[in-house]
Amino acid sequence: MLRRLFRRKKEYKNRFLKFYHLNKKRLNKERRSTYTAKMKLGVCVRCKRKALKNIVFCSYHRAKQKEYNKKARAR
Ligand SMILES: [Zn+2]
Repeated sequence: MLRRLFRRKKEYKNRFLKFYHLNKKRLNKERRSTYTAKMKLGVCVRCKRKALKNIVFCSYHRAKQKEYNKKARAR
């Protein structure tokens, strides 16, 4: 795995993208596990506030998400 990364000399736009691409498998796995853990605990997946019933966001982030979805649909 490591050897393959060295051989494949890929250029990234910036070091953040490079870090993301080199670590995305681990990052996604971590993200997914905290997501499910928070969901089970009833905590907002975006912050540490208590989530609303049956959804994964607190009231603040639910409003944010609604706004985001509206923009995404308008596009
Ligand atoms: Zn929140």
